Amino acid sequence: SQAAQLRGLDASKLSITKTQSPKTLRKPEDLVFGKEFTDHMLAIEWNLEQGWLEPKIVPYQNLSLDPASCVLHYAFECFEGMKAYKDKNGRVRLFRPDRNMERFNKSSARIALPTFDPASLIELISKFAQLESRFIPDQRGYSLYLRPTMIGTQKTLGVGTPGSALLFVIASPVGPYYPTGFKAVALEATDYAVRAWPGGVGDKKLGANYAPCIVPQQEAASRGFQQNLWLFGEEEYVTEVGTMNMFVAITDKATGQKELITAPLDGTILEGVTRDSILGLAREHLAPAGWKISERKYTMQELYDADQEGRLLEAFGAGTAAIVSPVRKISWKGKMVNCGLKDTEESGEIALQMKDWIEKIQYGDYEHEWSYVT
Ligand code: PMP
Repeated sequence: SQAAQLRGLDASKLSITKTQSPKTLRKPEDLVFGKEFTDHMLAIEWNLEQGWLEPKIVPYQNLSLDPASCVLHYAFECFEGMKAYKDKNGRVRLFRPDRNMERFNKSSARIALPTFDPASLIELISKFAQLESRFIPDQRGYSLYLRPTMIGTQKTLGVGTPGSALLFVIASPVGPYYPTGFKAVALEATDYAVRAWPGGVGDKKLGANYAPCIVPQQEAASRGFQQNLWLFGEEEYVTEVGTMNMFVAITDKATGQKELITAPLDGTILEGVTRDSILGLAREHLAPAGWKISERKYTMQELYDADQEGRLLEAFGAGTAAIVSPVRKISWKGKMVNCGLKDTEESGEIALQMKDWIEKIQYGDYEHEWSYVT
């Protein structure tokens, strides 16, 4: 059958063409997120007749796309965000790359783009990250942000399954999200727009999910809030913060037990790698100390009440870019919910502890199954 002849992604077929004009490295402290890219890119074409073609690492360059390419009209695009870190021995490490690959495959399958063998793409990304390792500063907090991307390239205005696709990975050296230490953010709860809904695609990393989020973000910024908080439904469930998963810590009114809460993966929440890591660490370290760790729905009213009664301990966003981002306050329907920080504090204890635990694993301070040596 024709399907049997389709080639799977084969890392052993990788060819490397090195750049003739290597870039000069920028001073680490001058790095701006996502502005500078490394010397090369990884690119793999796919088509319906042959499957995955030979992977190539080539000098970083423009793409050439027909103006009728389906990505430009119907948003056949999905992506990932992950980082490569340099450990104290100069080795390049990835953090839980299997998680990103799994999510990437789920995203691409949802928009009729091809899937791939996760281990092969991890191998290719590893080789790419190693080739670019001179771009990764060895100071703590610095890393190489990797952006695996898949687009439908078929030339057609017909709305249908893309017959060809391009998977590419570009890399951008990045500095610490909070160069001078945590800075707790103020959020505006968005009550006039929703990010995701049941049966939708909010749990997939599709480019199309991101563009509509900018206007509510700008609205929040125009009123002095750094980020917006996404709510859902009449109940005003708290879902995500900007492009991060949201965590809150509260003391239970009846039992006095402390509870770390994040929204459940009900299809409206991106399955964050950081979210999963925080839950894992919390179950390992906080649960034995008496904490309840919950993936459950919670509402703005619940946070408001907890604050009023002095039971809201802390709140923070969680994602690859910052690991954690402490929240000082949330504006909600003209009221202000204070999230447990004193005026002099920029982070709660859990956020601080989680950042420390996760960073130690990412930089390979000790061996851990989440850290993948390339
Ligand atoms: N939610 C959204 C909407 C995101 O874009 C991201 C960033 N990928 C996250 C959560 C956090 O996910 P991760 O921890 O995998 O970076």
